Amino acid sequence: MSFRGLRAFREKKQAKSLVVVPASSGSVNDDTPSDLPPPPPEKPGFRYDLPASMELKVVPGKGRAIFSTVSSKPGSALFFHRPRVVILSTPNIPRYCSYCCAELVTKRCSACRTVWYCDLACQKWDWALHQSECECLKRVRTLSSDQENPSIPPDAVRCLARISFAKVKYGLNSGTAKELDSLHSLKGALSQSAQTSHAQLAHALVQYLGAEAPTDLKKYGICSAGDLVDLISKFSTNTHTLTTPNLTQIGLAVSPALSLFNHSCEPNAVLVFPGSPRGDKSSPSMQLVCIRDINPGDEIVISYVDTTLPYDRRRAQLKDAYGFDCVCPLCQRSENQLHVDPRAATYCPARCGGIAFLPTPDKPYVECTTCKKRAPTEAEAIGDALRIGQEALDKVTALQDSDPAYAAKIAANIISLLTSAGMTNGSHPLLGLLRSHHYLLTTSLPLSEDHQKLLDDTIRTAVRVLQGLLEVLPFGHPIRAVHFSELGMLCATDETASNIPGRSQPTNEKVFPPTGAARLQLAINYLIEARKELLIAFGIKMEGGDVGKKVRETLIQLEAEMGIWKEGVKTAWKEQVADHPKR
Ligand SMILES: [Zn+2]
Ligand SMILES: [Zn+2]
Ligand SMILES: [Zn+2]
Ligand SMILES: [Zn+2]
Repeated sequence: MSFRGLRAFREKKQAKSLVVVPASSGSVNDDTPSDLPPPPPEKPGFRYDLPASMELKVVPGKGRAIFSTVSSKPGSALFFHRPRVVILSTPNIPRYCSYCCAELVTKRCSACRTVWYCDLACQKWDWALHQSECECLKRVRTLSSDQENPSIPPDAVRCLARISFAKVKYGLNSGTAKELDSLHSLKGALSQSAQTSHAQLAHALVQYLGAEAPTDLKKYGICSAGDLVDLISKFSTNTHTLTTPNLTQIGLAVSPALSLFNHSCEPNAVLVFPGSPRGDKSSPSMQLVCIRDINPGDEIVISYVDTTLPYDRRRAQLKDAYGFDCVCPLCQRSENQLHVDPRAATYCPARCGGIAFLPTPDKPYVECTTCKKRAPTEAEAIGDALRIGQEALDKVTALQDSDPAYAAKIAANIISLLTSAGMTNGSHPLLGLLRSHHYLLTTSLPLSEDHQKLLDDTIRTAVRVLQGLLEVLPFGHPIRAVHFSELGMLCATDETASNIPGRSQPTNEKVFPPTGAARLQLAINYLIEARKELLIAFGIKMEGGDVGKKVRETLIQLEAEMGIWKEGVKTAWKEQVADHPKR
């Protein structure tokens, strides 16, 4: 049986982290866009582009908030928007188009020899902002000790520069500039660590812009040190993570209109980049999608942090980066211990399927909230496991690109430690370690010698990640939806020759994942679930985004394969009967 198409798809995806930077010679099409037509004109006036179904209000004690004037069901697209500025993180510059963020690049700017585009059209549209950026990047190259591989400033610095270029390009009194200036600033309410990092950013930005005297910054509307701090503060609290349609994080996006939505750890909407329709040459589109029922008058809220994290970590991140104490329903339930949050829980000691609060020094036992079975546990031991788990997760995250084999080893060891301590798959830091381990196994698949064993290990880890995600995220959450599709694709990946039809092998129902037709059926089941969730996560109108469309195509292909498989088994069976006629 052949799943060549699927394998190619998976390999392309897996190869992402191994992509080699294209050489600067011959096949590369370098172009200077100096004589290209100007970009589209800027619309006059300042507006937020909000749809009629939304209302901007100022709530006393809370500030700006967006309310819905209509009812919306999960999967409905609430707001389609193109960010004002997008920037790729440094390792992604040679991999993605700097304008539309598509993955196939063919052209590099011949002047700075740094940014890449998928074609001339993208290069042309991007020139409006890249023109000034190009000068900065050329200067970085000239000043670098290694001119072939200069160290490009981080995405935050390049993003701030692009915001400044946009203001100059359209004029300091233009709608774009006013919209960017309208971003909320935390200046004055910053933590010490934020203040230090902002000072470093300010220094790097001034250097990147090539400003030698404070007056050089006037053209960007920066007339004092206070203005500079303000710009950086606005930037820090108002950027969104730029992702591919399958949620790979590739850079930063700035959209003042989308920054108006407030935070909740239990959001009723999500921001995604579902992918653009074919041939649509534009900056990537952001889509706000409803994932929980919204009624007229409800505030539309998104999450600023990873909602798989437990109460204390979410709150610490929100306080540090955004300066507020979250009072969302999930945080309130956790604070008042009204329910066991699976993000911080252990399984029932009697394995009834229920979960229990983590033990504390006051309550040094685990009591199942379902069957009420109580087991004494050293609160200290659980505390140690959590601390070791967190240290391991930090280490794995830091090492996953530089030393993936070592990172995978740490992850595997600490996962078994936390599992034997009774932690739930959805609990932190176990879920984080499982997700990292899954990523590391997936990226090592094309390199492995014992492919079949590693593939099966990867599927088993992916299933545990899924169990964890199902515990902590609602139906139709993008992370859940994309993970379902990844698991389905993994199960659909080619097995080794021993599993081809006609060559029967002993079947053991207890072995997971199964082989042959059962595995193919498993892939189909996961992909059917993936499709249902993707239609919510990325919007029904968008057909579940690029991932949703891919899953649909794969399902059609797999169902055809399933038919061939059944035919193959029938033929093999007939041949076997013919070879060994009944005695
Ligand atoms: Zn492009
Ligand atoms: Zn350039
Ligand atoms: Zn909260
Ligand atoms: Zn129980």
